[in-house]
Amino acid sequence: MQVVEILERIRPGWLSKVSGRVVNGEGVRQRILEELGRFYDALICTLESGELSRLNPVLDGWVQSQAQSELEQKQVGFSPLLNNIFQCSFEVLQASLSPLDCLAAWNALLPLYTYALDYTVQAETHLLVETISTELQKTGAELERLNKTKSDFISVAAHELKTPLTLIEGYTSMLRESLHENPQLPYEPYLKGIDSGYRRLQEIIDDMIDVSMIDNDLLAISFQPIWLNRLLAILENDLSDLLGERHQTLTIYPFVGSDEMTYGDGERLLQAFRNLFTNAIKYTPDGGKITVDGRPLPGFVEITITDTGIGIDPQDHNRIFEKFGRLGNVALHSSSKTRFKGGGPGLGLPITKGIIEAHGGAIWVESKRFDEVSCPGSTFHVVLPVLKSPPDDKTARFYRSLTESSGAKISSETVSSISHLYAKKTT
Ligand code: ADP
Repeated sequence: MQVVEILERIRPGWLSKVSGRVVNGEGVRQRILEELGRFYDALICTLESGELSRLNPVLDGWVQSQAQSELEQKQVGFSPLLNNIFQCSFEVLQASLSPLDCLAAWNALLPLYTYALDYTVQAETHLLVETISTELQKTGAELERLNKTKSDFISVAAHELKTPLTLIEGYTSMLRESLHENPQLPYEPYLKGIDSGYRRLQEIIDDMIDVSMIDNDLLAISFQPIWLNRLLAILENDLSDLLGERHQTLTIYPFVGSDEMTYGDGERLLQAFRNLFTNAIKYTPDGGKITVDGRPLPGFVEITITDTGIGIDPQDHNRIFEKFGRLGNVALHSSSKTRFKGGGPGLGLPITKGIIEAHGGAIWVESKRFDEVSCPGSTFHVVLPVLKSPPDDKTARFYRSLTESSGAKISSETVSSISHLYAKKTT
């Protein structure tokens, strides 16, 4: 009997045996049966034509079908499957044919199987090399981006640190000269200048420490009763002088839920909202409008801060929340905290995001485009969970004992006056 005839005869047995060996789930059996059928057809075609390359399309299809995730984990391997197929084939031949026919069929099939194995290993190696080189390219691009971020940070940090240092140096030498010329001169203005330079330095260093704490998951959130409307009112009060200088208006709408007590870290939330408010002031031209609104969501509250400023390109919406994700040219940095477009070191939004996320919330920005002329504006959305009790046992016990011993609820005024102590002055 011809080998091709033998193969046609044992086809059903072969398909059932091989599929039973290589498939576990019933769901994929049909698909595998189809693939094995194609492979079997290719075997017969190859035997008839004598061209080994007839096997290539099926083998190529198998190699290419490997999922990207398998390739990334270097878990490639149709060779084990092929080995299984060879073994099953031999068992089927042995069980269904006379020793002579079995030998004839195996002799004809062996070179095909050897070719298939060799071809598959080569194709898989090629694919693996391609995957690894793509990964290397991606890693290279990421390293380049990190390197650029690092050198940008060094430029911005040096610039940011230098400005207050120059201020301190200038006032100190003026003070020295003035006192030398006339020891009776009032030295208060010089000390004020030195003090403001020192405070700016302190703020930059504090920001750097905060970022490093957020990066290392060390940001401690101390939960206390808070009222969002009180926090927003504190900021409105603190920023009124700045808003006046820039002829900008800040409107805070009372929204449903803003006067309800929730638990959060008042000091940290003030810091987060202060960053958003000062950014809105900084990136909005003189005379612009800043509006704060919000709405309750199931289990959460959403606060929106909208400005009529220069806007942000959609492609930068994620980048600005990354460390040193400040946009624009480092060399053009004005280093002012509130002047129009006076960028800082680009740490404000990453810190804000870190604080909001540490509360179990989320932050994102909505803005059509960046345009310094038409000023399309930006809206920052902050979503915070509404917590009716502190999330940690220690704080819960503390506030329970406080309310039980005082026999009364803690008033929002008490809390806001505590928070007020924390509020930092923006200069
Ligand atoms: P920076 O210290 O530079 O202000 P931030 O982390 O606070 O750093 O902000 C990162 C960048 O996001 C800013 O440099 C600015 O380009 C952009 N940005 C932030 N807030 C606004 C806003 N309200 N309008 C337009 N651009 C903004």
